[in-house]
Amino acid sequence: MCIEKNMNIPIYQPTIGKKEKKYVLDCIESTWISSKGKYINKFEKSFSDYTQIPYVSTVSNGTVALHLAMLALGIGKGDEVIMPTLTYVATANAVSYVGAKPVFVDSDPKTWQINPTLIEKMITSKTKAIVVVHLYGQSANMHQIINIAKRNELKIIEDCAEAFGTYYHNHHVGIFSDISTFSFYGNKTITTGEGGMVCTKSEKLHNKMYQLKTQGVSQNKEYFHSIIGYNYRMTNICAAIGFAQIQQAKSFLKKKRNIAIKYNKAFKKIGIKHHCEQNKTIHSYWMYSIQLKNKFQKNSLRNHLKVNGIETRPLFSTHAYATNL
Ligand SMILES: *Cc1c(COP(=O)(O)O)cnc(C)c1O
Repeated sequence: MCIEKNMNIPIYQPTIGKKEKKYVLDCIESTWISSKGKYINKFEKSFSDYTQIPYVSTVSNGTVALHLAMLALGIGKGDEVIMPTLTYVATANAVSYVGAKPVFVDSDPKTWQINPTLIEKMITSKTKAIVVVHLYGQSANMHQIINIAKRNELKIIEDCAEAFGTYYHNHHVGIFSDISTFSFYGNKTITTGEGGMVCTKSEKLHNKMYQLKTQGVSQNKEYFHSIIGYNYRMTNICAAIGFAQIQQAKSFLKKKRNIAIKYNKAFKKIGIKHHCEQNKTIHSYWMYSIQLKNKFQKNSLRNHLKVNGIETRPLFSTHAYATNL
């Protein structure tokens, strides 16, 4: 995953080993290479066991998972959806796909997550949902957000793309909302190459999203398509990689934590702020992040690291999102 040349330490490199090879070869030798096959079920079952979210459904990436969430919750034209300014662009894109408007709320400087105390000021009669993003592997303050959503009758979507292995009050994130989404892009904590998961506690929402991801096909009448649907299915090959990855997830997460502990100590010594693990949460350290004082400090440190073969990337930009609707 090295974007620049001559980098000894890339930003990220997925661990792909014997197990992935074995399962992928099994797909090829058995000819089950499309979106049906045993690895889809195996990956979904193991993902549900791991996260304890009852209904999970594989999809082709994390962005379409968010799109399905919007569709299933009936979010559409004229609606407003609250989300943090500091996030990956896919969160806002998915809201735009259904013709709704992303409404941005600043993040808490301490946690880098959406600031719950600023949410209520942004709620209008058009607001339908809050998208919570558990950014960089830390979780947002779910208690406060759930209370706000209840008081104002809003839906919650958790974008857990960066939060596989993240816990809030002893529960894996993704269980605190109506629908949660995950991404398995090559640099995510577990990967399928490209891939995603859309999860819920509601059987009804699960069935609806299944229908939407499979061209709107009816559950009880063959080749009958009663609604406009999409082809957002994951392939058995991707699921085979995912099934191999999830079996190694605990060791990936442990390795990340050990590296983060070393970095935390070192950065603390020289007075540089790092992304902190909050009380009663488990940070999964998806991407180790630090906060520098200004542009000059950032650029000089990035240059210094580059010269020494260490690749870095800036945090997401919080500049205004271009709505070209
Ligand atoms: C990676 C990511 C996504 C999108 O996932 P893809 O699988 O790349 O489509 C969405 N939201 C956040 C916060 C992400 O980091």
